[in-house]
Formats: sequence, structure tokens, C-alpha cells
Amino acid sequence: MALYAELHRHLGGSVVPRVLWRYFQRNHTDLAGSFEGYEVFEDFYTRPRKTLDEYLELHTLVEKVQTDETLPYFIYRLMRGAYVFENLAYLELRYTPYLRTPDTLSQTERIDRMTQIVEIVGKSSEMIEYPIVTSQILCMHSRLPYEVNRAIVDLAAQMPQYVCAIDLAGGDAHYRDRLDEFIDLYEYARSLGLNTTGHLYETEEGCYPELLPFLMRIGHGIQIPLQFPELLPELARRGQCLEVCPTTYLKTGTLEHLHQLKVVFDRCFEAGVDIAICTDNAGLHNVRLPFEYESLLTHDIIGFEELQACQDAAFRHAFAWKHKERPASILSNILLHPEFDPVA
Ligand SMILES: [Zn+2]
Repeated sequence: MALYAELHRHLGGSVVPRVLWRYFQRNHTDLAGSFEGYEVFEDFYTRPRKTLDEYLELHTLVEKVQTDETLPYFIYRLMRGAYVFENLAYLELRYTPYLRTPDTLSQTERIDRMTQIVEIVGKSSEMIEYPIVTSQILCMHSRLPYEVNRAIVDLAAQMPQYVCAIDLAGGDAHYRDRLDEFIDLYEYARSLGLNTTGHLYETEEGCYPELLPFLMRIGHGIQIPLQFPELLPELARRGQCLEVCPTTYLKTGTLEHLHQLKVVFDRCFEAGVDIAICTDNAGLHNVRLPFEYESLLTHDIIGFEELQACQDAAFRHAFAWKHKERPASILSNILLHPEFDPVA
């Protein structure tokens, strides 16, 4: 069995429709009641949106119900699915902790509550039954004030046992007016020794070369090979990896056909820029990681060799994977050398 690393998955978008529906039926009959039945709900939840903003609106539906009390419920189901159906050995889960605190509290109180949320997510995702190496990426958000984003960076630095990096999310079209602020926050994060990624160059409106030097990985970044291939050698020099999430671009109206990704992969391979294939919102899309792999193969966007290169890259660029090799090579060693002791 091949074991995979997932580098880009949102906690909010990770709840599969069936689990969310059951949760509504059990706890929020008002929400369940507004749909005629599961099929209608699934269609509403997973259907493509016209724009990234419209698509991101859906996250608020899940964020509202992911509280300190319910997070263990959702995370248990997330880990179980990831282990049983996706063969994940490694998972970085990302979210904005501030948005899981009660909106009835003051900003300061909500900031204080974030620590508890990170602890709950951390403890809930460590399970013996479904062992997956996990860590969290805390997302700054383009719609949150500077103080909150700065507190998110501070929190990431204070909790390395649970947090491996910071991110910037909320729709990449909205960074322009506050670009200096985000540069400042990334500089601050790097000064604290934090790993960095950021949603950037996902849409045509989200291209900010000013932010690129601060990122170790780029969330999506597909507009770079598509529109600014001249930047690729610089990315290769910096060892930056693109987190490419194929299904997302069809759901957000960013691309019309999966085929458009062929240029993305071809140009990156040619320039020596690594790509990790990810799901982004596996639940919202109802598409799991192995299917993303298979779909790229069946659409002739990449071949098996390229797929393996991307799977290797995912482990290499994983912020909290401490081992030199991916788990598959441990199995290969056992096959080649039956006396090999992986624990020794
Ligand atoms: Zn994302």
C-alpha cells in the first residue's frame, strides 16, 4: 500500500457532505430542515461556484458549527476517513483559529480562546486507532484585522508541538490594499523561525510578486506557470513548492477544464519547480486525494513517473515530516532486506 502526504487541506472544507448532513440531523434540525433531503443538500454543498469568493462563502457554513465542543466530533471522522479511504501517512490541517471562537466575545477574548482551539485540534487528531502524522497550519485571513493576524503568528510560534507553519487565506483578490501589512506579518513570522505558505497566484486577481520571497511553499500558485513562467527559475532557486489542488479550480471557476493544468505541470517540471498534489477541500468537493491522482492520470495531464515525483515532493516539502524518506521506501527496504529493522 502506498502512503501519501497531504499538504493542503482546510479543516472547514474537510467535512464530507454525509458527515455534515448527519450532524445537522442530530444537532441542527433547523439547518437540515431547509433542504428537502440528503441529495438536495449534497448538490447544494458540492456544486461548482462561479467565483472563488462565492465558493469561500460555503466555508462559513461549516465554520459556524466547528466550535470547541464539536471539533473532536468532526476531526475524528476526518482522520478515520483519511486513514481508511485515502491512505494518508501525513496530514497538515489548516484553518483560522479565530473563526472557531464564539463571535459573541470581544476581539481580545476571542484571541485568548485561540490557544484552546489549537490544543483541541491537536489532541483530537492524535489517534492510535487511525495513526497519521499530523500538524496544523494556522491561516491568517484577508478579512481579519492586523492585530488578529499578528496574534495568529504569535500563537503559531508558541505552539510548535501542534503547529508547523502559517498561511494567508480568505481569497487572494483581497490582499492588494493591505499588501504592506501582509509583508510585515510574513517578515515577522520568518523572524520567529516559522515555516510559511500562502494562498497566492490562485486566481488572475491574486498575483503579488512582492509576497513570493517570504513563502517556502505557495498555496496553488498555478497562475505563475500559466501567466508568468519567467518567475519559475526564481521559484526553483528558492526551492519553493506549489501546492496544486486540481478539483478546486473547477469548483471556483478559475479554470474551465482540467486539461489546462497540463501546462502548469509541464512548465514546472521543466523549470525544476516541485509540485505537491493536494485536495484543498476534500469534503466540500467530495473528492479524496487518491482520486485527484487518478484523475490527473486519466486526463493525461501527468504520467505515473511524474505522479511519483509529486508524491515524493509532498514528503520532501512537508513541514513536520521528520524523516528523510517517504513511508513507501521503508516498505521497499523490508522487501529488499528482510532483516531490515525500520525502528532500529
Ligand atoms: Zn486552500
